[in-house]
Amino acid sequence: MSQVTDQESLYYLQVVRRQPVVIVKGEGTKVWDEDGKEYLDFTAGWAVNNLGHCHPVVADAVAEQARTLMQTSNQFYTVPQVKLAKLLVENSCMDRVFVCNSGAEAIEGCIKTARKYGRLNRDGAYEIITALDSFHGRTLAGVSATGQPHYQEAWQPLLPGFVHVPYNDIEAIRKATTDNTCAVMLEPVQGEGGVNVPDEDYLKEVRAWCDANNLLLIFDEIQVGVGRLGTLWGYETFGVEPDVMALAKGLGGGVPIGAFLMKEHAAVLSPGDHGSTFGGNALTCAAAAAVMDYIVENDVVKHAAEMGVLLKQGLEKLRDKLEFVAGVRGKGLLLGLEFVDDMAAAAVAACNEEGLLLNPVRPNILRFMPPLTITPDEIEQGLQRLENGLVKARAPQ
Ligand SMILES: *Cc1c(COP(=O)(O)O)cnc(C)c1O
Repeated sequence: MSQVTDQESLYYLQVVRRQPVVIVKGEGTKVWDEDGKEYLDFTAGWAVNNLGHCHPVVADAVAEQARTLMQTSNQFYTVPQVKLAKLLVENSCMDRVFVCNSGAEAIEGCIKTARKYGRLNRDGAYEIITALDSFHGRTLAGVSATGQPHYQEAWQPLLPGFVHVPYNDIEAIRKATTDNTCAVMLEPVQGEGGVNVPDEDYLKEVRAWCDANNLLLIFDEIQVGVGRLGTLWGYETFGVEPDVMALAKGLGGGVPIGAFLMKEHAAVLSPGDHGSTFGGNALTCAAAAAVMDYIVENDVVKHAAEMGVLLKQGLEKLRDKLEFVAGVRGKGLLLGLEFVDDMAAAAVAACNEEGLLLNPVRPNILRFMPPLTITPDEIEQGLQRLENGLVKARAPQ
């Protein structure tokens, strides 16, 4: 056993199930463990390292900013914060930005925005409709919004004001809407819920319903935003614009950062309503601005879309070849491989051996979310390692 894993079990709070891999270094799509073994990383820090590990543009931005200015508090203006906000607004349908430190915090901001909107425009309405199998983070408001009982049961009483409906079911949203409703919050594609892609028209119908009833439409783009679906923003994949959107994961290229953005009519928070000590910090904003700049300037999203097609085709070939693979789903570089039974954990363990890191998002589903900068060669190699791992995982012991 490695000293690191031993010490982790002694000193760290035991709340996460880890793979037995100590990652010490990363570059692009590759990472290395303590013994120098190389892996292709198809988890990318949970859809975070969109430019790959330690991209020089991110590393340089962090290093330079760290020597210039890291933290001032939001009592003052800083250059990187405004630069990032301008980049986000100019490259999206949104008008205003608030920068925070994580996805869960971005969701908190969206919830506060929705409640204030309801107070101002819907006669005090405060209920937010969210979807079953959604994931909106681990704070108490986040787990209350999340539509998965196993994230919620231990934390009763939850924050009131959330109504959960089946995903991809417009009628359920119509039925759940009351005078108390102020917003609908959805992931354009559910990530944590198992890579669930809605029908073509679903989000358009939700948009029309929200317009007709003066409800805010909030998209949780924490996982799908910043290029993941092969469009810069998840909403573009479906041709629907939300009023409010949450970002995090891919935004900082590896540094912890989140943001919530809104159109002008939803910019209801006013001085004193919200704040954060670290949120919008010069260091993380410099990194995120460098990521956004690089992605836009180098057409990384187009590349991601092309690589997504390649990876999906490869997975579909495996589905046709291996009788225990039931299906392939997803968009862009957020893909899922479904098995006929609960073999995802065994598949991940076997693929570790082969040098491929994967995420078992459900007992019967693997999630693929490699860096957007992955190359065709790395996809081919990854698919080969995947096939070897799956066959081994399936072989009689
Ligand atoms: C990861 C994730 C979150 C939570 O983000 P954290 O940074 O872990 O707090 C919320 N919503 C979605 C869709 C996510 O994928």
